[in-house]
Amino acid sequence: MKILCVLYPDPVTGYPPAYAREDIPVISTYPDGQTLPSPRAPLGFKPGQLLGCVSGELGLRAYLESHGHQLIVTSDRDGPYSVFETNLADADVVISQPFYPAYLSADRIAKARCLKLALTAGIGSDHVDLKAAAARGITVAEQTFSNSISVAEHVVMMVLSLVRNYLPSHEYAVEGDWNIADCVSRSYDIEGMHFGTIGAGRIGLAILRRLKPFDVRLHYNQRHRLSAEVERELNLTFHATPESLVQACDIVNLQVPLYPSTEGMFDDNLLGLMKRGSYLVNCARGRLCDQDAVVRALNSGRLAGYAGDVWYPQPAPVDHPWRTMMHNGMTPHMSGSSLSAQARYAAGTLEILQCFLEGRSIRPEYVIVEHGQLAGTGARSYNLT
Ligand code: NAD
Repeated sequence: MKILCVLYPDPVTGYPPAYAREDIPVISTYPDGQTLPSPRAPLGFKPGQLLGCVSGELGLRAYLESHGHQLIVTSDRDGPYSVFETNLADADVVISQPFYPAYLSADRIAKARCLKLALTAGIGSDHVDLKAAAARGITVAEQTFSNSISVAEHVVMMVLSLVRNYLPSHEYAVEGDWNIADCVSRSYDIEGMHFGTIGAGRIGLAILRRLKPFDVRLHYNQRHRLSAEVERELNLTFHATPESLVQACDIVNLQVPLYPSTEGMFDDNLLGLMKRGSYLVNCARGRLCDQDAVVRALNSGRLAGYAGDVWYPQPAPVDHPWRTMMHNGMTPHMSGSSLSAQARYAAGTLEILQCFLEGRSIRPEYVIVEHGQLAGTGARSYNLT
């Protein structure tokens, strides 16, 4: 079989990088008891290596070539003469990461006549037109939970850095200044603030748990209400709508998947309902927010800060307004691709490939689309409309 894999480019300083640490901690299980990826040995990499870039190859080459499969790995994914487009027609499997997505639009799916499996290395398969994939009988799968905690940690970091005014204050230090008044005139404690997450799945719930010890008051809006036990444990306030949540909160986090009816959820109307001086964090998907409405909300003071790592398109163009808008704490899309996360999603990718190539079924928690419809985690978390 032909496996076509799009990964982000290597570090500008070359591959492999000089690693900061010798290894990564060993995690025994995910928080809800889901087992870690369990591919058959040998693993084609050492956990802690940079695997998500082209030279890292997700550690897949040895397994695939020893079983007679062809692996093409590229970051050249745009335009009709790109390595990606020119290899798409006879690829059986496409692997792509949300951080540097190979957008599998309906047009590209139509061209990909042999495609049977669209595999996301990571979480979030919105770069695949799920409706078109379902109509063609293509399976879409990802490594559920592989980087959920990685993102939860990033969100907590962004909440604290926005509210405490960390990034501008760091800049003053770097520049040799000592402007205490300038540092603190936009700096607050999160203690006592109201924090709410729209979407309380694996990431959203992990964020709520991590923020609980900061003595913030916790709110959530979620398609499937959490158990009474969890609500009690975290002292959660449930909101039936995003509108109700944003009016009650000082800090709002967005953690729902992107699908047609969540696209543009944060528009002028919803932003207009937020308290003056709210903070919005979005490490879910860029298109959940109306790009220009966010800029307007920062300019008007409705938002005191916006942070996240997701943009549209990706990579974001150099003149994307979110790079330079006021009071932003943006990073490139990197929260779910820490070296720790890469070890898990690379192992999960190998597990899914082994299942697919050896005719075994893929775990339901990894499945987004199967047999022409949303299935597994996809049925719980996505809509086709
Ligand atoms: P998850 O499937 O565990 O949780 C998503 C939750 O959203 C589900 O529980 C679902 O019930 C809920 N939901 C769906 N539509 C909703 C709606 N309209 N309103 C309220 N709730 C709704 O997934 P997760 O692991 O928590 O990830 C969530 C999203 O975060 C992913 O879909 C992806 O887009 C994004 N993500 C980003 C990164 C990154 O690197 N920035 C990494 C992983 C995931």
